[in-house]
Amino acid sequence: MTHKPKLKLATTSLAGCFGCHMSFLDMDERLIELLEHIEFDRSPFTDIKQLDHCDIGLIEGGVCNAENVHVLRTYRANCRILVAVGACAINGGVPALRNHFSLKECLEEAYVKTPDMINPHIPDDPELPLLLNKVYPVHEVVKIDYFLPGCPPSADTFYRFLSELIEGKEPQIGKVELRYD
Ligand code: SF4
Repeated sequence: MTHKPKLKLATTSLAGCFGCHMSFLDMDERLIELLEHIEFDRSPFTDIKQLDHCDIGLIEGGVCNAENVHVLRTYRANCRILVAVGACAINGGVPALRNHFSLKECLEEAYVKTPDMINPHIPDDPELPLLLNKVYPVHEVVKIDYFLPGCPPSADTFYRFLSELIEGKEPQIGKVELRYD
């Protein structure tokens, strides 16, 4: 019997909280089963720094700074199937609440106006990625192939979605897994 080559999977967190990655890990022992068919490339789960060509890229988090834009474009260029995972990636999520305020207001509130700040000033080291004026959903920056809703999507949703991709089927999300909270 010929074994199909493993699908290469990359993941990343942009303006996310890593909750979607934690929910991925909540697949628990089913991860061992998936690893028969999937191998990780660049991901917070690995130490791989350079993204290779991949079959699937899972993107957690919206886009809030210049580095997020760069990483997202790199994933789009290298992943055959790119997936927006979770509310933040799909519509900006909770971090997009800052869109109600100007970036200047947000930075001053955090770094200047907070009581008892020692040396209050807005960080400006050139190594820090510049924040965008707004937080954007990923589909406003690159083309996205699939959206997994939820904050976070459940482990069952991840499992079903990946299993169907492994089987070469068009992934469907069942009513039970379809949630936005
Ligand atoms: S969708 Fe929810 S769990 Fe996922 S990164 Fe955003 S806040 Fe965290």
